[in-house]
Amino acid sequence: MSVEELKSWIRIHKEEIFANDAVGTGCFSYLPGEVVWAVTKRCNLRCKHCSISEEDPEELTTEEGFAIIEDAAKLGPVKFAFTGGEPLLRKDIYDLIEYASSFDMQVVMATNGTLITKEVAEKLKKAGLERAAISIDGIGGAHDDFRGVDGAFDDVLRGLKACEGAGLAIQLFTMVTHDNYGAIPKIIKLADDLSLWRIYLIYLIAVGRGKDISEACLSTDENMRFFDYVADKQKEVKVWLKPICNPQYWAYLKDKGLVDREDGFEFTGCTAGITRFHIFPNGDVTPCAYLPVKTGNVREQRFLDIVRDSEMFKALRAREVRGQCAACEYKEMCGGCRSRAYAISGDYLAEDPVCSLGDGGRR
Ligand code: SF4
Ligand code: SF4
Repeated sequence: MSVEELKSWIRIHKEEIFANDAVGTGCFSYLPGEVVWAVTKRCNLRCKHCSISEEDPEELTTEEGFAIIEDAAKLGPVKFAFTGGEPLLRKDIYDLIEYASSFDMQVVMATNGTLITKEVAEKLKKAGLERAAISIDGIGGAHDDFRGVDGAFDDVLRGLKACEGAGLAIQLFTMVTHDNYGAIPKIIKLADDLSLWRIYLIYLIAVGRGKDISEACLSTDENMRFFDYVADKQKEVKVWLKPICNPQYWAYLKDKGLVDREDGFEFTGCTAGITRFHIFPNGDVTPCAYLPVKTGNVREQRFLDIVRDSEMFKALRAREVRGQCAACEYKEMCGGCRSRAYAISGDYLAEDPVCSLGDGGRR
């Protein structure tokens, strides 16, 4: 398809691109923001890429969770996302969802999907869950292999169908690595066949267990070619394809002349610590699930005070980024993935090296 065709198609579908209807902020949407609470590190799967793999039984209590929810609601009509580990392993998960949904917030959940039966899906819906993001990284045995448990693919398909039956909106979370790159078209087809609304195509950030498979991360050139693939593929399918942990996708679209500010495309880049806040199971607060640098703990300080006073969040809000990101014309609309910068360099303000759009990248 020609650039002009793609451009006009993107313009026509602008509302959908910005629609605030997903689990996750898509790594470009500041408003209204998202508070993510990883309620447990426990999980029934053993995924190769898991970002929180360390054994640590410490978890916040139900009452501590209620306090986080109350604080999150004071930030405005943000999304409140439950994740893990596997959030369905917490016995009080339905009470937590019900409490969160009593405020003016969209309540969403990221889950591996394997524990969702018809009964579970109906309970989630009744408690007030609006949407679920379910992980699929391969088809059949390839998914089982990536997720470390035989039968996981069949279980996740059952979970997807149960959510659909209960009236929950569903999207996919799909890791994109060297190992499953060839399966991405099949996963997109599966999502389209199931009439799913979105797939978040996640760049592997090498933290947690993901450190052991860092060689599976796409290189800069491969990642840019992946953007070519996604932009091109989007016109063929109804399901929305969103590369995440990749805020430069939106800069890429601008660089190609496919989106323009005059047309109302105002991407706002990496949201970590700006309107996206992550709470680990032990109460540590960080800017993003993939950026395990603690800036406070809700057992020592109110969540709202941490959000307001954190020097780390202030630096992220001010985009005090370095290297090619500092000089880049797309600094405001992208800012680089702060988690990837940290995973690769140990400095969350360092340049995002998996990019060929910034000054250093025009090499
Ligand atoms: S740090 Fe990376 S994964 Fe996290 S919000 Fe920013 S772009 Fe997305
Ligand atoms: S150089 Fe940094 S700010 Fe510029 S597009 Fe690349 S990642 Fe984004």
